[in-house]
Amino acid sequence: MPLLLHACCGPCSLEPVKLLREEGFEPTICWTNPNIQPVSEWQRRLDTLQAWARDVAHVQVIIAGDDRDAWERGVAPAGFDRSRRCRACYALRLAESCRVAREKGFSYVSTTLAVSPYQLFDECHDVLEKLSRANGLTAVWRDFRPHYPQATRESRELGMYRQNYCGCRFSAAEAAVERHQARDERKAARAAARAADADAAAGARA
Ligand code: SF4
Repeated sequence: MPLLLHACCGPCSLEPVKLLREEGFEPTICWTNPNIQPVSEWQRRLDTLQAWARDVAHVQVIIAGDDRDAWERGVAPAGFDRSRRCRACYALRLAESCRVAREKGFSYVSTTLAVSPYQLFDECHDVLEKLSRANGLTAVWRDFRPHYPQATRESRELGMYRQNYCGCRFSAAEAAVERHQARDERKAARAAARAADADAAAGARA
């Protein structure tokens, strides 16, 4: 059964393509990600996806619309309000995917966004269901998240480029803050362990 699969990047496509094929679907990938900034990053993710699709997965990739102005108008004003921002971002990309699905005669649509534990799973599901229904399509929504570690391993083995932020400039800033916080916590934990060791040694000498 032909299915149009919106893909956010190459590594996140590995498991959904495999699992959907196991269910009897034959995915065609739809690339529509005007959220990815800067453009060089957008190109790098697309190149990674296309190389894997061509050489490994043998899956067709449709390059759909990437309306960056619409993203700036409809998504960026939400700023660091993540729930509002991501919902609008999903809606923009999945609406374009549904438009392409209808135009090309697909009945089923899905998205690789359902593999990443970093996405807002329920919000994304809700958006896909509503848009699919409005377009006369059937949403194929699966919880691919348990397969994320496998996708991470496999994409590393394949030498694929793996980004460390979701895509927009807000997510890049949020990811940088989280990495700094994690580093500070590790440093504090090491300092506490050293202090505990020193106390224990002092106690033993006393
Ligand atoms: S964090 Fe990801 S899903 Fe959310 S707005 Fe940014 S690019 Fe879109």
